[in-house]
Amino acid sequence: MEKSRRLWTAALLVLAAVTLSGCKVSATSRDRYYDHDETRYSLGYFLDARDTGRYFPSGRWSLNSEAEVCVGDTLYFETDDGRVRVYGSPAYSENTFRAAATELNTRIDDVLNRFKMSWRDFVGERSSAVPYPEQVVACLSPRVTNADLASGTLAAVAIAPYHRSWPYEAGQIFTHELAHHVQENLSRHNASTSLLPYWFAEGQAALVSGYPVAPAYQHYDYDPLRDATRNDASSVSYRFEHYALAYRYLERANGALEMTLLLDLVQFMDWTGDYRGLISSGESRAFVEAFDAMELVDHRGRYLSFARFRADYHSLLAL
Ligand SMILES: [Zn+2]
Repeated sequence: MEKSRRLWTAALLVLAAVTLSGCKVSATSRDRYYDHDETRYSLGYFLDARDTGRYFPSGRWSLNSEAEVCVGDTLYFETDDGRVRVYGSPAYSENTFRAAATELNTRIDDVLNRFKMSWRDFVGERSSAVPYPEQVVACLSPRVTNADLASGTLAAVAIAPYHRSWPYEAGQIFTHELAHHVQENLSRHNASTSLLPYWFAEGQAALVSGYPVAPAYQHYDYDPLRDATRNDASSVSYRFEHYALAYRYLERANGALEMTLLLDLVQFMDWTGDYRGLISSGESRAFVEAFDAMELVDHRGRYLSFARFRADYHSLLAL
C-alpha cells in the first residue's frame, strides 16, 4: 500500500527541518446490551478462507494473545461493503458474527472522524505490513471476557463471542478499542510492540470514546506521564482520567489533526529503522523523535518538546 502523499510529504518536511497490547476497561453487566432486532444487522456473507484464500492474519507480531486464537479459523462473516471481516469458530452463533461486524462497521466512521480521517485516508495511512489494509478484521475470542468485551491491536480486534452477554456499555467499549486499533495502525510500520506511551494511547482512546476526564484542577493527584508502559502504571482506576487529561492538553493546544499527523510521523520513524528502542524514561525513541519533530506547542503557543512536557506537566496544567 502506498502511503498518502500528503502525510509522507509532511513527515519528510518535518524531518528535513529538523507498548501496549490492547487495554483494560472494566465494565459491569448490569443490563443486557444487545437488543437489536436482526433486521438491523449489517448485510453480508459467511465465507470460508479455504475457498477465498483470505485467512486470518498469521503474523503474531501484529496480534495479541486474545486475537491469536483465530489463527487457523477459516469461517468468517464479511459485510457486503467489504470493510469488516469477523473470524471465529463455527461453534459460535451466526448472530454473534453479525452483531460484531455491525458494531465495528457502524462505529469505525465516527472513530476515524475523531482522528480527522475518512475511511479512504485510513486505508492509505495504515502500515503496509498489515495483510488486509482495506478491512477491519475481528476475532471472536474466548480469551476476552464479557466484561472486557473487546481488545484492539494492530491486525485485529478481539471480541467476546457471546453477543447476548455483552455488557451495557458495549458501544462505548467498541469505540474505545477501535480507537486503539486505529492508533496502532497509524503509528506502527512493523514494530513488534506499540510505539506509543501507555498514557498517550489510553488518553486518546478515552477521549475518542467519551470516557471521563479528570478535572484540570486535580492534576496533582496523579502523574500520568510517568506511565510510559503498562508496567509503569499503578493500579488506581482513576489514572485513566488523568491519561485523558494529559492527552487532551496536547490535543487542545495543537488540534486533533496534529495528533493524527504525530501518529503518522511515529510510523515514519519506525519505517526508517533509525529510531529503534527506548529512551531512558521508557518511551519509544520513535515516539519522542516524532513528538519533537512535530513542533508541537503548549497552551501559550510556545514550542513544547517531549522532555519539557514530561518535566513541566504540572506547571503547564496549572493554567
Ligand atoms: Zn484502552
